[in-house]
Amino acid sequence: MIACLERFIHENDTESRQDDDLPNICQSLDLQGSIDCVATGLAGKDFGGTYSFKPLAIIRPAGADDVARVVKAAYRSPSMTVAARGNGHSINGQAMADGGVVIDMRSTAENQFKIVRMNGEMFVDVSGGALWEDVLIRCVSGFNLAPRSWTDYLGLTVGGTLSNAGVSGQAFRYGPQSSNVSELDVVTGKGDILTCSERENSELFFGALGGIGQFGIITRARVKLQPAPDMVRWIRVVYSEFEEFTRDAEWLVTLPEGKSFDYVEGFVFVNSDDPVNGWPSVPLDPDQGFDQTAIPPTAGSVLYCLEVALHYQNSDHPSAVDTVVKSLLGRLGFINDLKFQMDVTYVEFLSRVKQVEEHARANGTWDSPHPWLNMFISKRDIADFDRMVFKRLLKEGVGGPMLMYPLLRSKWDNRTSVMIPAEGEIFYIVALLRFTHSKGPCVEKLVSQNQEIVQLCFNKGFDFKLYLPHYHSQDDWKRHFGNQWSRFVDRKASFDPMAILAPGQKIFKRII
Ligand code: FAD
Repeated sequence: MIACLERFIHENDTESRQDDDLPNICQSLDLQGSIDCVATGLAGKDFGGTYSFKPLAIIRPAGADDVARVVKAAYRSPSMTVAARGNGHSINGQAMADGGVVIDMRSTAENQFKIVRMNGEMFVDVSGGALWEDVLIRCVSGFNLAPRSWTDYLGLTVGGTLSNAGVSGQAFRYGPQSSNVSELDVVTGKGDILTCSERENSELFFGALGGIGQFGIITRARVKLQPAPDMVRWIRVVYSEFEEFTRDAEWLVTLPEGKSFDYVEGFVFVNSDDPVNGWPSVPLDPDQGFDQTAIPPTAGSVLYCLEVALHYQNSDHPSAVDTVVKSLLGRLGFINDLKFQMDVTYVEFLSRVKQVEEHARANGTWDSPHPWLNMFISKRDIADFDRMVFKRLLKEGVGGPMLMYPLLRSKWDNRTSVMIPAEGEIFYIVALLRFTHSKGPCVEKLVSQNQEIVQLCFNKGFDFKLYLPHYHSQDDWKRHFGNQWSRFVDRKASFDPMAILAPGQKIFKRII
């Protein structure tokens, strides 16, 4: 191990870690987990596939104590940095550490799991390194309970999504995943293990939620639960007009609890027979055809799909489910013959992107680059965005889903570090989930189209924020955080004063 680190230091000429006495540091760690400084390949890659930074070593901790030891050692060293890596599903190298140490949190996935009842409410304690798909299965199969707020895809870690927000079709009701935890254990940038909540170490608690890894490494989260439904009626309906689509989506997300669907999302797709971007991307089942003759002749280059779901129990009478669905759909203005629905188990519904993953793995597009762009855009500007971006720039699609659906500000806690648009109760998430293949446009072109879209939003004065933000200069980060920048900097000074953590975000430089 020591020899390997020494060789690495001499061979590597990334910014200077020469003055860190790494062999000694690593020897003194005395970890229960393992260190690997040869096979670090995984830690230098992510889902985005366009960034690659070789770390000095990858550490697989056994638990929070190991994480604390590594961070403490880095704190005492002259220049070492540390990145927690969840499942590496970032797009722009956010979980990497160029010449630093990457902590693979997946090795802690099995730690912590415990159901907790507090003041009549149910919670589950899970490791920051657990995958949401495993949390789902353990909670449902063991206890008939489930977290309330999800991401669309569940091969992501608890610590990774809580460090961003964690958004899906339940967020209109319960807020993002970061609004659905009551307590965290966090290893700060000084190597202290602190429990934090709204009442205890609250600055750290709110800082770490949406804190893009800047204030500490989440080793345990206490996640709110609800009784798990047995079944889900999953429905997609199609619109040709943006105004009708947004009117209906906004109506559904502002209905009182119990009076609406349990899940509301939407996406934009191309008005053509393109297998990936067009009509065939809408039916829930390959057996369901898409009758394009139902599209009005006035329709433009893109169409809109509202995706909703209703939870129910096996014990509910089918006609009761039909009645609720019928009465809600009856108030919507979608194109009559373009409705698709199916009944699936709750676990199947939440695991729906797994099928997409299997398909993409089979055709090679899972492992090719994904220059994704995620944004939150105020309701005030979403019609202009639709006109200038979806209907013009992206009228041929992005080779994958183009999500667009409304969220409610009141469900987001402004004490967390997550940034959302400045104005109004309703804002939209827009996610351009680009998949690439050798015959399509080159990745550079797609990245530059993303930049063009972001620039257009700035030029037009749109009220928007990047979600899963990625910037190169501190000035850009200052603009991102706006009037919250000083709070962000103060929290950094309190919890990671040497700027050791999450260097891949490129916000602060390690203090030497
Ligand atoms: P990583 O990418 O490994 O890490 C992300 C950041 O968090 C890094 O800065 C890292 O240092 C830090 N970090 C990781 N673990 C910890 C920890 N324990 N404590 C503190 N910091 C930590 N997002 C949504 O909101 N909704 C979706 O529906 C959604 N779907 C997705 C589908 C796919 C296929 C992909 C690739 C991503 C999706 N995302 C979605 C984005 C996802 O939330 C982010 O990629 C997020 O970073 C989680 O991924 P991860 O666990 O792999 O974290």
